[in-house]
Amino acid sequence: MNHTKPDKYGYYGEFGGAFVPEMLYPNIKELQENYEQIIQSDSFQEEFKSLLRDYVGRPTPLFFSKNLSAQFGAKIYLKREDLNHTGAHKINNAIGQVLLAKRLNKNRIIAETGAGQHGVATATACALMNIDCTIFMGEIDIDRQKPNVERMRILGAKVVAATSGSKTLKDATNEAIREWINNPVDTHYIIGSVVGPHPYPDLVTQFQSIISEEIKMQLNEQTGNERPDYVIACLGGGSNAIGAFYHFIDNGKTKLIAVEAGGEGVYSGKTAATIALGKIGIIHGSKTYLIQTDDGQIVEPHSISAGLDYPGIGPIHSFLHDTGKVEVVNVTDQEALDAAFHLSKVDGIIPALESAHALAHLNKMTLKTSDVVVINLSGRGDKDMLTYQKFM
Ligand SMILES: *Cc1c(COP(=O)(O)O)cnc(C)c1O
Repeated sequence: MNHTKPDKYGYYGEFGGAFVPEMLYPNIKELQENYEQIIQSDSFQEEFKSLLRDYVGRPTPLFFSKNLSAQFGAKIYLKREDLNHTGAHKINNAIGQVLLAKRLNKNRIIAETGAGQHGVATATACALMNIDCTIFMGEIDIDRQKPNVERMRILGAKVVAATSGSKTLKDATNEAIREWINNPVDTHYIIGSVVGPHPYPDLVTQFQSIISEEIKMQLNEQTGNERPDYVIACLGGGSNAIGAFYHFIDNGKTKLIAVEAGGEGVYSGKTAATIALGKIGIIHGSKTYLIQTDDGQIVEPHSISAGLDYPGIGPIHSFLHDTGKVEVVNVTDQEALDAAFHLSKVDGIIPALESAHALAHLNKMTLKTSDVVVINLSGRGDKDMLTYQKFM
């Protein structure tokens, strides 16, 4: 059984698919029919890989942390996605999708963003490749995330406020979809995680799989064995996690652990722990676990980290969870904060709050001295300085 590739309708087992309004169907169908051939082509891969190397700064280092290793009694490695241009893994996907859009003869990119990280990565890739860029953002988020809004504007993107509903991410998504329906021929819509209708989960998975491709090679160079005992990553929509897991999924050795945001506690009512609480439903065009009420209304999630504050997870993660390929755990806001401060002190690396969730799980593991553990450090903490200041 293949655990990494959806069937031709976009299903991973029972999860995934493409539940879209009829008016969006032509846009999705064009992508479905063309994406695989384009991104598998040698010329695409060559251009993609050369930009990842010379522009993004890949391969990112795999850092053996002596300090964490001594503390936890195992061999702890940090995959430094925080050292990517723009400070996180999201740029891998943004570059891939802009390249894809160009090959589909699109001359305009749209995207939505909540905290602004995906918007900044998208605006960056669009500036680089000289393509028109519009980012939809809830009016409230525009207020809350001023520095990222300024970044997008400096990069030449147009930031459009979504003023309906709760004026946050889901309203921005609605606006972006409306815009896409109205401009199907010239516009590509970039989704920022392994969520959304088929083929987005597969597209984004392929672009992020570079992370585990590199981990494998780097571990082999550093230890003589390409298979770690554990890979740990935080799980929001799931793009950094699937990138870090991808090449280890069926190797028979590596245990894969995805860490959700427990928020103030799984049963506190303020959480984003989708697998812990979720029931199967449909969100953003695909069938997956999501946090919902008994009558199917999506529950407003909470996490201290904006990137994990999402009520669903990508369909591939629902599938990997149900088939036992990935263990899903959660840590609280406080545990993530503690882990972020700890890594800053012991290794001089201020991680993103999202990534700190993966780190925090180390405290709950029973490890052997021979165990090789890779933590995916999905991003850097610059964007979280206000939160860190508040809790110091
Ligand atoms: C956006 C973000 C995440 C969460 O998104 P995934 O798709 O789950 O990876 C995690 N870490 C950082 C640094 C982010 O910016």
